[in-house]
Amino acid sequence: MERESMEFDVVIVGGGPSGLSAAIRLKQLAAEAGDDINVCLIEKGAEIGAHILSGAVLEPRSLNELIPDWQDKGAPLDTPVNNDRFMFLTEKSAFRLPTPPQMNNHGNYIISLGNFCRWLGDQAEAMGVEVYPGFPAAEVLYDDEGRVRGIATGDMGIGKDGEKTDAYEPGMELLGKQVIFAEGCRGHLTKTLFDRFNLREGKDPQTFAIGIKELWDIDPAKSEPGKVWHSVGWPVSTDVYGGSFLYHLNGNQVAVGYVIGLDYANPHLSPFEEFQRFKTHPKVRSVFEGGRRVSYGARALNEGGFQSIPKLTFPGGCLVGCTAGFLNVPKIKGTHTAMKSGMLAAEAVFEAVKAEGEGIEPATYGEKIKASWLWDELYRVRNIRPGFKSGLWLGMAYAGFDTYVMRGRAPWTLHHHEDHSSLKPAAHMPKIDYPKPDNEVSFDRNSSVYLSGTNHNENQPAHLTLKDASVPVDHNLALYDSPEQRYCPAGVYEIIRDDDGENPRLQINAQNCVHCKTCDIKDPTQNITWVTPEGGGGPAYPNM
Ligand SMILES: Cc1cc2nc3c(=O)[nH]c(=O)nc-3n(C[C@H](O)[C@H](O)[C@H](O)COP(=O)(O)OP(=O)(O)OC[C@H]3O[C@@H](n4cnc5c(N)ncnc54)[C@H](O)[C@@H]3O)c2cc1C
Ligand code: SF4
Repeated sequence: MERESMEFDVVIVGGGPSGLSAAIRLKQLAAEAGDDINVCLIEKGAEIGAHILSGAVLEPRSLNELIPDWQDKGAPLDTPVNNDRFMFLTEKSAFRLPTPPQMNNHGNYIISLGNFCRWLGDQAEAMGVEVYPGFPAAEVLYDDEGRVRGIATGDMGIGKDGEKTDAYEPGMELLGKQVIFAEGCRGHLTKTLFDRFNLREGKDPQTFAIGIKELWDIDPAKSEPGKVWHSVGWPVSTDVYGGSFLYHLNGNQVAVGYVIGLDYANPHLSPFEEFQRFKTHPKVRSVFEGGRRVSYGARALNEGGFQSIPKLTFPGGCLVGCTAGFLNVPKIKGTHTAMKSGMLAAEAVFEAVKAEGEGIEPATYGEKIKASWLWDELYRVRNIRPGFKSGLWLGMAYAGFDTYVMRGRAPWTLHHHEDHSSLKPAAHMPKIDYPKPDNEVSFDRNSSVYLSGTNHNENQPAHLTLKDASVPVDHNLALYDSPEQRYCPAGVYEIIRDDDGENPRLQINAQNCVHCKTCDIKDPTQNITWVTPEGGGGPAYPNM
């Protein structure tokens, strides 16, 4: 069966804040020019927002630029921040620290990023953008001269054995004069573009963290809408870059989460269990007692910042948002920067489309980024995250010096290393004894994944692929005690054995995958590659 194809001026891959802002800006530019532009946006989640997971505190700077009358248009920014707390935790106590300037949230809003994206999706559709949820872009298409020509969506109805089933339907080819990749952190097509066009040459490696989040309905008596609470310290040791967020929304809801840098060295560490343990701290537990957990999920985020941003353009397209790495780590915010990059890319792409050619490199995008507030913002904080490589205390001291004395203008730039090479052999690192879940504020993985609404058709090839099937046992189990069993927040990877305890082998429960991409990042030999599953598969986040 031949693949059908459709032609557009611009194809956008990914319905997060960056892709949707690019789509909206393209339509605005066309309207300003008294012209039209044909824009299609595809999203792998079953609906816009279904795969979006964030904190989230939104800095509204880009939104003000993109849609100045967002209030009249009903944007879901209902909870202005009115209280900022930055805490240091020991096992039993909490001490207030001065709030670093980057974490001052005056003028920001606590939101559900999923709901915000749903609203942006409605704005885009109202302007004529063709939005297709439930379609993963599975392959980049190139023309005879090697320029990006479009993408192909994944085939449906391929069985576990790789054979076509009765439900087989080939993917579609979506061709564009320009293609904007907005896949979010660790985009899997973006990874192939890095290699094909050598986009990372001369840049620092990208570094990452995993963020695990829950949404709770809490006792109304404890609700403090507008309160933003962050912590560092317990339960992780000071050599691990990690901390919590706890945001009080309207409607007696609290978003709580834990973020851990993926450069941790101890293979016994489990980000999931650290998060569950964090909620048992006396100051935290009291918020959730008597409440009900309503949702769960996880997602990787970028931490490389300025020095890790790749070349952004190639013949026929560009990268926007977190797939390029525009997150501001000390702020723990990437939405305003993702939106801004999408808006600037739209300007360059619009020029390229109107130049009436296919496969043009929208090169002015890179220049527009360098001339914008976004570049200056990322430049000024570029040394803060790598300053933590010697631990929490030296990191905090360096961050203070870089921020207050150097004002982000130090005549040096600190560098990053790759996260997958940071693990030390399990035998040389301390085991961590995690408490059992109490099922009141702390839980196990299975009941957590259930709350993510994750679903994949079971009769399909695993979307977590191994380059070499012997590595999980011969290398990962032997040297690191199979860290994938612990860093995966969804229990996808399990070492199983025969009844006599012999014959260890890796079982991949791919149907549980919440698409966080941590395995693709942290596997020590980069043996695991995450690829898109069948359309619509994955989490069904309500308002994460
Ligand atoms: C735990 C956590 C807390 C955070 N807290 C904050 C915060 O408080 N404030 C803040 O500003 N930022 C925060 N961030 C960062 C913020 O969420 C991101 O910077 C932002 O979402 C990036 O937007 P994006 O459009 O680049 O990518 P995403 O929001 O990741 O969107 C990408 C979209 O593309 C889709 N997609 C990916 N690949 C494909 C494909 N091949 N085909 C089709 N669709 C595809 C995905 O399903 C997704 O919907 C946080 C992130 C995390 C993980
Ligand atoms: S399998 Fe990989 S991408 Fe899926 S939830 Fe686990 S770590 Fe995340």
